[in-house]
Amino acid sequence: MNIATMTARTIPVIIPSLKEKHSGTPVRLSQEAKDAHARLSSNRTLPASQARKRPVRLPPDVSLEKFETAVKELRTEIGDDNVEVNDKPLVDGWYLEHPNTHDAFHIADQEELVSSATVYPGSTEEVQATVRWANKFGIPIYPISIGRNLGYGGAAPRMPGAIVVDLGKRMHQVINIDAENASCVVEPGVTYFKLYEEIQNRNLPLWIDTPDLGGGSVLGNAIDRGVGYTPYGDHFANHCGMELVLPDGELLRTGMGAMPGPDGSDNPTWQSFQHAFGPAIDGIFSQSNFGIVTKMGFHLMPETGHQSYCFTFPRDDDFEHIVDLIRPLAQKRILGNIPQLRHAIQELAVTGGRKKDFHDGAGPMTREEIRTAASKLPLGDCSWVFYGTQYGPPEAIVAQLELIKGEFGKIPGSKFFLPANLPPDHYIHDRASVCSGVPVLRELDWLNWVPNGAHLFFSPIAPTRGKDARTIHELIVAAHQRHGFDLFPTLCVAGREIHYITNIIYDRADPEAKNRAIRLMREMIDECAARGFGEYRTHLLFADQVAGTYNWNNSAFMRFNETIKDVLDPNGILAPGRNGIWPKRFRGKGWELKVDDIDLTTIGPRS
Ligand code: ADP
Repeated sequence: MNIATMTARTIPVIIPSLKEKHSGTPVRLSQEAKDAHARLSSNRTLPASQARKRPVRLPPDVSLEKFETAVKELRTEIGDDNVEVNDKPLVDGWYLEHPNTHDAFHIADQEELVSSATVYPGSTEEVQATVRWANKFGIPIYPISIGRNLGYGGAAPRMPGAIVVDLGKRMHQVINIDAENASCVVEPGVTYFKLYEEIQNRNLPLWIDTPDLGGGSVLGNAIDRGVGYTPYGDHFANHCGMELVLPDGELLRTGMGAMPGPDGSDNPTWQSFQHAFGPAIDGIFSQSNFGIVTKMGFHLMPETGHQSYCFTFPRDDDFEHIVDLIRPLAQKRILGNIPQLRHAIQELAVTGGRKKDFHDGAGPMTREEIRTAASKLPLGDCSWVFYGTQYGPPEAIVAQLELIKGEFGKIPGSKFFLPANLPPDHYIHDRASVCSGVPVLRELDWLNWVPNGAHLFFSPIAPTRGKDARTIHELIVAAHQRHGFDLFPTLCVAGREIHYITNIIYDRADPEAKNRAIRLMREMIDECAARGFGEYRTHLLFADQVAGTYNWNNSAFMRFNETIKDVLDPNGILAPGRNGIWPKRFRGKGWELKVDDIDLTTIGPRS
């Protein structure tokens, strides 16, 4: 059968294991993965792939002839099998078999955010060779580690036709685990699944810190400043030392790694102290396009006792009060981790159910529908759910929980649940895993909400203050209503700030829904910025707009970034446009996408 004519239902379920593929699934999760795949594919109407409408998307300003010459030379450098031209039908796949050719959740046309080719370097030297080659031909390259940054652009390059440098396929070693120092050094292709398995195999009393889904790259997620949920949940803050290739091919080590160890060995404190001497430069390599990270160190948490729990709150209007109660508990570090405050609608979504099971017709679910559906679920009729975890010896946990119960008990009708009080398939058990460093897959079930489910994250930061939280929440609620989307808010609440993360779920076969999602994003970015709330991270196509909101003092911040970019990358080859940073070569030439760019069916220079 031709792949282009296969329907989702006929795709054989081959979910590679970690033994077979660096990005594969651990054996312990293989049945769960199959079940998740079955649910998703039964809710899919799109074919696995379709014939390409256009030929290979060439890099900007590069003729087909020059492209072919360049690819030939790259093949000579890196190996024939390690360079693939992106000319076959695009396959969106799904989380566990994600593409490295385009954005699997294409909010633009599927063929717009695409690479021209993919290269698979097998060593730092080959990364350097790739960078030098890109400079020679003036071809933009875009590094990914695993490429599962779904909701923020996945594996897609911001500039169509760039060459994706897929680091993970051949560079996926756990280079070191230091049990005494409780740290590790990993290559780009090490997933949370893999690091976890490696620690288990070595029987070490260490935890990893994983995001909600465990298939991402430990290094890639930290570079993008992702978060997890143990006390080590700020991934970039818990990194310690990087090795990276600069846009001119130079190799650099940060932190204590800048000092050689004895007899040519790595510096013995490279994974012990982050900042070393002189300017702390690590930060400029996160969410930027200033270097390609080939190794990165991380602190690991020594395993400890833990107890997950949740509270429910009955009224939507309890929201402000809940936030004000969390603030002192978090500032005093009584709360053990960064807890999540979620809306009751998420209890419906994580069952793997579909929206049509709870709601007739178009438009968002009504409050009454959510209440009716939630009341049939284990947590019962409620509006907000707080998921937390406490750490330490049992007596410490008991004492902490008493304090926390005392505070949340101030909200009339609040209820407290332990995992033992809830059925085995309830989401709390997956939270307990994530919050004790065990990577899982459960959050995939959200995507069943609509057919051909895809999602975009909207992720602003707000102060942990009830009235500010209320302001941003009301703004986001109104925008979702206006554009007919259900609102799925997950608030990661720290002592001073909230990562207010909303997941806009749309049918990627429905151009009208995509267009509404784009409008929703554009409006929320602007309306939040007008009140001083900025995004901490965004999808590639919204990066220019978000970057444009950080414009204090005549955009001094962006001008600083551009100065660095132009010095490090004068030929503008490394990830042009990532996080809104355009090199001189492309800056102001129509590539930037601004608030008025609602039609994203084509991506390229605009007049
Ligand atoms: P994950 O699979 O963990 O979500 P990705 O590999 O998709 O992570 O990386 C997220 C983003 O971070 C990528 O789109 C890319 O822009 C950037 N990135 C990833 N790996 C590197 C790296 N090794 N060096 C520089 N930037 C990187």
